[in-house]
Amino acid sequence: MRIVSLASGSSGNCTLFVSENTRLLIDAGISKRQVLQRLEKVLGPLPRIDAILITHEHTDHIKDVGKVARALKCPIYVSEGTAPFLEPLLTGSEKLLLFKPEKGFQIRDLSIEPFRIPHDAAEPCGFLIEEESLFASINKRIAVATDLGTVTDEIRKKLLHCDLVMLEANHDIEMLINGSYPEDLKQRILSDIGHLSNDAAGQTLRYLSHKGRLRAAVLMHLSKNNNRPTLALKIVQEHLDGTDVSVAVAPRDRMSAVFTV
Ligand SMILES: [Zn+2]
Ligand SMILES: [Zn+2]
Repeated sequence: MRIVSLASGSSGNCTLFVSENTRLLIDAGISKRQVLQRLEKVLGPLPRIDAILITHEHTDHIKDVGKVARALKCPIYVSEGTAPFLEPLLTGSEKLLLFKPEKGFQIRDLSIEPFRIPHDAAEPCGFLIEEESLFASINKRIAVATDLGTVTDEIRKKLLHCDLVMLEANHDIEMLINGSYPEDLKQRILSDIGHLSNDAAGQTLRYLSHKGRLRAAVLMHLSKNNNRPTLALKIVQEHLDGTDVSVAVAPRDRMSAVFTV
């Protein structure tokens, strides 16, 4: 499976997954024009996309979901709790497929398992994506978990057998506390339904590399004001010292490298 982050952060999120026969987007929080331009760079002109999966209703995740779904003529998978928030962005011509958190479903050769994440949205979800492989002895597993205030025991269990985890590393706690955000916003970000710090991401990835089979991690949803890519990377790599997990950062406003598992 190949994975490319098309954008990641509070100004827009969109991630592409390409397996043997399936192409998925998770979120469509950047403009339709940007999504199509960046998809074309990876997949060539008029790319076929099989589905868009939605994590939650914050604008940086759904901004152009209706326009993108109409342009690509693909269905939108959204949780029952999040679906009503998409309505203003839809014309009625899109195909909406509702899921429940913790209830898995299949899209072509990919098994998808949405799981609950703690965040201040209606029904926020992360996703486990497993590729059925005819050739490998073990199916490849990837998880996406961004916009979560804390990593609960249940989430740790979900992420345990993943080869690649795309995990939020939103802020450096010191930078946030000493920064210029209003106090109530700082408290919201730091809360258990806010965003994940570099240290919390590092601790989680260390656990996954020791207890599971983690090979690679991509740090996602970095704050523009309360983090720096080099700092997030340094802190997480310190937690992963002595392991052979490779770590990369998804850029905020351009495409990432192509990650292969
Ligand atoms: Zn977000
Ligand atoms: Zn959010």
